[in-house]
Order: sequence, then structure tokens, then C-alpha cells
Amino acid sequence: MSVNEIINLLKNPSQNDIEIITKAFEFAKEAHEDQKRLSGDPFIIHPLETAKTIAKLQLDAKTIAAALLHDVCEDKNVEEKIIRKKFGEEIAFLVSGVTKLGEIKYKDAELKTENLRKMFLAMAKDIRVIFIRLADRMHNMQTLQFIPKEKQRRIAEETLEIYAPIANRLGIGEFKGQLQDLAFPYIYPEEYKKVKEMLKGRYEQKEHELIKTKYELEKEIKKNGINDFSVDSRIKHLYSLFQKFQRPEINMDIENIYDLIALRIIVKNVEDCYKVLGIIHNMWKPLPGKIKDYIATSKPNGYQSLHTTIFAIDGAITEIQIRTKKMHEEAEYGIAAHWAYTESNKPRTGGVVNPRMSWVNQLVDWQKSIAQGQTQDFLETLKLDFFKDRVFCFTPKGDVIDLPEGATAIDFAYAIHSDIGNSASAAKVNNKFVSLDTILKNGDIVEIQTQKNKKPSAEWLERAKTSLAKKQIRSARREHEPFKRAV
Ligand code: MN
Repeated sequence: MSVNEIINLLKNPSQNDIEIITKAFEFAKEAHEDQKRLSGDPFIIHPLETAKTIAKLQLDAKTIAAALLHDVCEDKNVEEKIIRKKFGEEIAFLVSGVTKLGEIKYKDAELKTENLRKMFLAMAKDIRVIFIRLADRMHNMQTLQFIPKEKQRRIAEETLEIYAPIANRLGIGEFKGQLQDLAFPYIYPEEYKKVKEMLKGRYEQKEHELIKTKYELEKEIKKNGINDFSVDSRIKHLYSLFQKFQRPEINMDIENIYDLIALRIIVKNVEDCYKVLGIIHNMWKPLPGKIKDYIATSKPNGYQSLHTTIFAIDGAITEIQIRTKKMHEEAEYGIAAHWAYTESNKPRTGGVVNPRMSWVNQLVDWQKSIAQGQTQDFLETLKLDFFKDRVFCFTPKGDVIDLPEGATAIDFAYAIHSDIGNSASAAKVNNKFVSLDTILKNGDIVEIQTQKNKKPSAEWLERAKTSLAKKQIRSARREHEPFKRAV
């Protein structure tokens, strides 16, 4: 149990990073010294594990330090001003954000909503607070068996209904899968047992089947001149398997699930993705209707890969996923991949430098406009609309604009400001000129160019997706057409 467990996870920590993380570790260790977890472990294990999860996401040193300190105010009554004095404004701000999120307990629908509201308010200030809360929840779920029985279900439910969807929403597939699997046995104990029973011996059998396929595949890829690649297998998460079982075409039969274990090929670039797909289809017959090109059209949360299902050696039906290293990182770490900083404090990918989430400010406004007393509705709206099918885009400065799936550059322009929307003349997505009605993808960096005396065209009403944009377009067009209105 030492701070090196964290440091060793970082790719290129600076001396400064190491110092601040070590200092936070020492401080937390001392603050929690007399405290134990219900498991009997020394308490420091918990912030340490939380910080390790944050470090795996390659987030910045201050977020890691805040993860180490996340329980000192809540559990040990250390005052915020002491954190500020010792660690500076930013870390104190993150720690207090995490503490505030933990203040409300989730017992019934009414309080759920309240908790969510708080969560969002904290998000509005800094998304890193959410990352720490997710990491904290991950470790608490891993140790849920030590918690009194009557509390277990509530915590697991909250995880399944609130935390896992947030992880999904942020595109952190790995977090979503782990949180769901951890909650699964507490929420659906019977079904959990059943799925486990059905899987008995299956993984081993499937792994065995795949050894030969994997060997042949590697040989053939090399023969075609591609050397920079890796082939691994990924095991489907249990809860996601359980969800799949409920689809009518699966008919509760494990024989109908082809991606129990999938082969995952990671290559250098997009060109190699398609080359490898060709190589595979040359070796084995693909199942019709199972070839999916999520590179040309990514999933709403930004996921990119090629998927195919083939009749492999001995007719074993096998799913294969092909993607680049960058796509792989983004699929595992989601928005955190955009958030990761190098030691020089420059972003690792894209042009994202501003960790503020302006999109949540919009949400807070929207939230305020919801009448009092409609809390149940509010929760439903959040569950249905907010978590699903959203895309994050960035301004050239790195502000995040949150839009519904299918939104175009027109929506983006109006989301920035009505004047920008009304005078938009052209859009650049990832540095390329595109038409204003281009549908945006997760992670797109969008630049809107404006022209004086421009006005929105009627056609935009069809192309815009958000009600905000539509409203503004209508009102701008009315201003330009006084005569029509008089009729
Ligand atoms: Mn905690």
C-alpha cells in the first residue's frame, strides 16, 4: 500500500505531479489513520483505489490528488480552507464538489431527484468531480458485501440507475460495464444465478475454440504486410449478456449469442482496419447482416470500430472487432480520453484545453425552468432524454457543447449564441469546411463562421434538431418578414 501504486500507472508524470500526489497521499493517510473500512481494511485503501482508477484514466495530477483527499472533509471533518491552504484553490474546489455530491442519501424517488440535481450542479462546475464520484462508487461497489444487507440494494440500485448511465453518457464503456456487473447480483439475484449457470464451462470452451482461429488470423495478417497490430479477446460483460438474453430473437438460448467472447484486433490506422476486414472475409465467410461499419458512422456516444461475425474454424461463429489504438482508448475511456493531459499540461488528443462543461450550464437553466413539484417527471426526463443519445462537440477553444443525437452545425451555432446562429454562414468540422446541416459526431471540433446581415433560411427549420435552435430561427425569420406577419 503505497503511493507508487498510483505513480506507476501514469505514463509520463512530472516531478511536480509526483510531489502533489505524494503530498495528498500522506495527508489522507494521516487524516484517516484511526479509521477502518467495514471490511476491516485500513481506510486509506479506499481513497487509494479511487485515485488508482482516476490514474488509469490518465487524468491530471490535481484530479488524482483530489481523489486521494475525497473523503477527508466528509469523514474526518477536515475543513475546506485547510485543503485550500495546503493544496491550492483547484484541488480544494474538486474535493468540496465531491463532498457535496455525497451529502444527500438516495432513499426514495423524491430524494433521488434531489441528489441528481446536486450532481448536475457539481457537474456544471467541473466534470472531474463526476469522474472522482464514479471511481469512488466503483470501489464501494467492489466492497459492497461488507455493507449491511438493507443498504446493499439501495446502493446497487443507485449504481444501476444513476452511475452506470452517467458513465455510458460520458462514453466510458469500461466503467459502465463494471458498474452494471457489480450491481447485477444485488438487484436480480435469481437472474444472476441463472446467467452464471448458463455460462458454466462456456468461456473455457469458447476460448479453446478461438486459439486456432487467432493463430491463423495473426499469420494471415502478417503475410499481408501488416505488422503493427495486436489480437486479444474480450469477454462480454455479464449484465450486458443478461440484457441481450431478453431480446426476442435470442430466445433465452446461449447458442444464439455470438459475441460471448469476441476477438479484438487493434491496428495502426483506419486503412489497416478495412484491410484486415478484407483479409478476414477472405479466410472465413461472414454472417450476412452482421457486418457493421461504426467507423464510417459512429455510434451516438462516439464509439468507433468495424464489427463482423464469421464462421471461423470448425464453423464456430465468432465476432471480430477491428479498430485503431485511438478508437480503442476512446471506447474504453470515453470523454476522459479527451480530458487527459500530458505533463506539459497540453491535451493528449484533440484541441481540448478547457475542462469547463458549458453544456451543463444549459442544463441547469433548463432545470430551473421546470416548475416546482414536478420532481418525478424531472427524474423521468433525465433518465429518458438526458442520458441517452447525446453527442458532445467542442468549440475550437475546447468548450463542450452538448447536443442531442442527429444535431447539426446549425444547432451547434445556436447553442453558442443566438447571434452566432442567426449570422452563421459556414462551418468547419475538425478543420474541414462542411455544410451547416452536417450532422455532428461525438468529439467533433466545430467552428462556426459568421457573416453580417445574414438571416436564417426556412430550410434550417428542417435541418435543426434542438427546440432552442428552431425557436430562434422562427423568431429571427419573423423579424425579417414583418409584412407576412401583418396579413
Ligand atoms: Mn469515498
